[in-house]
Amino acid sequence: MIPVEKALETVLAHTRALPVEEVALDEALGRVLAGDVDSDLDLPPFRRSMMDGFALRAADVAHAPARLAVVGQIRAGQWSDRPLQAGEAVAIMTGAPVPSGADAVQQVEKTRGLDGGRAVEILEAVDEGAHVAPAGSEVKAGQRVLGGGRVIDPATVAVLAAVGRGRVRVGRRPRVSVVVTGDELVDVWHVPGRGQIRDSNGPAVLAQARWAGAEARLIGPVADETGKIAAAVREGLGADVLVLSGGVSAGAFDLVEEVLSQFDVGLLFTQVAIKPGAPLVFGRRGDTLVFGLPGNPVSAQVTFDLFVRAALLRLQGARVVSRPVAEATLGEAVRNRSGRRSHLPARARWADGHLLATPVPTQGSADLVAHAQANALIVLDAGRTAAAAGERVPLVLLGSFLERDGL
Ligand code: AMP
Ligand code: MG
Repeated sequence: MIPVEKALETVLAHTRALPVEEVALDEALGRVLAGDVDSDLDLPPFRRSMMDGFALRAADVAHAPARLAVVGQIRAGQWSDRPLQAGEAVAIMTGAPVPSGADAVQQVEKTRGLDGGRAVEILEAVDEGAHVAPAGSEVKAGQRVLGGGRVIDPATVAVLAAVGRGRVRVGRRPRVSVVVTGDELVDVWHVPGRGQIRDSNGPAVLAQARWAGAEARLIGPVADETGKIAAAVREGLGADVLVLSGGVSAGAFDLVEEVLSQFDVGLLFTQVAIKPGAPLVFGRRGDTLVFGLPGNPVSAQVTFDLFVRAALLRLQGARVVSRPVAEATLGEAVRNRSGRRSHLPARARWADGHLLATPVPTQGSADLVAHAQANALIVLDAGRTAAAAGERVPLVLLGSFLERDGL
């Protein structure tokens, strides 16, 4: 059994980034940006008014109230070549270019129209530069605005649009084959017969792979027979990543390891000191990564999140591949008698100025309904056999923590 960090290190050491491809900005959400992005222009590209109001010379209104002649109006998208003279103001809208000669904008609320709009009374003085964003004050042309290896979120899309990247270079999506094994499994359309259950890992692992940016397809459910598993593995090995579910523990019908060795998959580990999990297979055949996840639904989801997701992100060139870990206060006592690093499903929320993590009552690693109530995992290291309410613990924030709010 190898420790969790060592296992993750091994996975990443065998994970090479896939080639880069170009996609339309419209398709870039969730993809991993390949290479740094520099701005093609100053932001803002011109001296921009930050308010609706009047562009003027600050010196003219130093002893406000002061009356100025209104010599025109500049809307966003317009351009005025007429320099502003002393004693003049020009009506200006948010986002419009401030004309030369003007050095400040006073907001419309602090002015009063006179003579049917031909003049304006400025009610308060303004500092030079007030409400004017100088050209390049946010970003200078040529300046780095995005670092490569980040996952493209909506804010990243905004930056790419602003700097003219209608096409974006991203890591290719990994192709994932998911092979689900187990004699007892029927698919979602069937009512299970005696001794049977529905396959939940297939759909869950597909969803996890897609959530991590992969293209995923399901092979199976496959019966626990060497020949049938071998046929599925042969098909699945054509992908960048083959993920198997079930059949990796010590039972008489746990045949996955045996089949993988038939195909010359080099096994790099078969046991990790993790709970839920422990039997967890990782190997490689050429450039194809192979994961054998335990069949228990919570074990499968947790080990996928920690190891397979990291590999899928790294294949796309992502810099950060692990879920964030926060420090939380325990809402209730928890125990860990496993001798392995334990991950307990928890609900985390902000309370009294800190993150409070309350364990979700669970029947164990088969309890997928309890796991779906969790938005985080309380981590107890192998040596930490118990923690009392009020103690601080590391907390892995799951995708659901970031994607939806509290409850
Ligand atoms: P295994 O790892 O094959 O020994 O399976 C461990 C437990 O997980 C058994 O109770 C299986 O019935 C269950 N299991 C295995 N595969 C799946 C699956 N695809 N969906 C739901 N439960 C599963
Ligand atoms: Mg099985």
